[in-house]
Amino acid sequence: MKTILLITTGGTIACRKNEAGVYSPELRGRELTACVPEIASICEPRYNDIYQTPLDSTNIQLSDWALMSEAIYAGLTQDCDGIVVTMGTDTMSYTAAMLSFMLINPHKPVILTGSQIPMTAPGTDGKQNLLDAFQTALAGYPGIYIVFDGKIIYGTRASKVDALSSCAIEPINVPRAGSVTAGGVLMEHPIKIPAGGETRMDNRVCGDVFLLKLIPGLVPDKIDTLLDLGFKGIVLEVFGLQGIPTASDGRASVYQSIKKVLERGKTIPIAATTQCVKGETNFGVYALGGRELLEAGLIPCYDMTTEAAVTKLMWLLGHDYSVGEIKAEMLRNYCGEISDTAASRAWTPELGASGEDRRDSGVNLPV
Ligand code: ASP
Repeated sequence: MKTILLITTGGTIACRKNEAGVYSPELRGRELTACVPEIASICEPRYNDIYQTPLDSTNIQLSDWALMSEAIYAGLTQDCDGIVVTMGTDTMSYTAAMLSFMLINPHKPVILTGSQIPMTAPGTDGKQNLLDAFQTALAGYPGIYIVFDGKIIYGTRASKVDALSSCAIEPINVPRAGSVTAGGVLMEHPIKIPAGGETRMDNRVCGDVFLLKLIPGLVPDKIDTLLDLGFKGIVLEVFGLQGIPTASDGRASVYQSIKKVLERGKTIPIAATTQCVKGETNFGVYALGGRELLEAGLIPCYDMTTEAAVTKLMWLLGHDYSVGEIKAEMLRNYCGEISDTAASRAWTPELGASGEDRRDSGVNLPV
């Protein structure tokens, strides 16, 4: 029988109602699998409850990602056939993206899951999601995925799109990797991990990244002050394809502020994603000065999710890259997070255009 390592962190799936009538995560791995007896009949689960007190994923910090990556890496390099990680859904897409950057060439399945309704509550989606996650881990496709509501989603291409319903997590800008149905696991587009590539963990990150979502009426001066607050990288969520308010007929110009920040010694990388759930940035469509911003150094993230852009920037800033190098690296496909610019941004589940994770072939490779 195959062995699957269950790493638990908390989240709604592990919640019980406390005396105050609100939910807090308490269930450990054994208690979770006890709620889904089918699991013991298809594999031999092993357990690693990484917290004494399980976490609501709202509280996840950089040190938690380090801890999670270490627990997963231990599973990847030791004797087990696959890994399931349970956690909260609120920051699951950030976590899945970050783990995809931290764990290089995972030669086993690493499946994140959780639920919208606690495992012990009526109508829970936790039982199905946990069983689906185990089944996907047993199917043996290597790579980091989220399994939720029957969908198998790439770790770098997920977003939480619904705070209530059981279809909370969706694939963004790419098809789902596969599905889990009553008939079993159907993997349509598995991630291709280079066969010879050594499994590595590189969990150096820097958390000094600010995500700025533009809103109508944003006061431009506030943007300049971000630099003085010590942030080392900014992700701008622009309107639609490229919308950053420009000055015309005396209106406030966020655009000028951003340009100023970009030009101010080019000290920090500024990357741009769209605030739309789907689609991509394109700074050459409207007469809104997009090309000038690109020339000044703005990094267009194209079809990358905000979650992937933020975590990739944190990961890159944790390494010894110059701002120029970070720009180049942001646009390179490490593990499926961005469609390939070299091939007119054609998307492929392969890692990088050549099928290799470019963290293993890049210039100035951080090891
Ligand atoms: N607040 C919970 C968490 O992210 C929500 C969930 O798990 O669905 O931990």
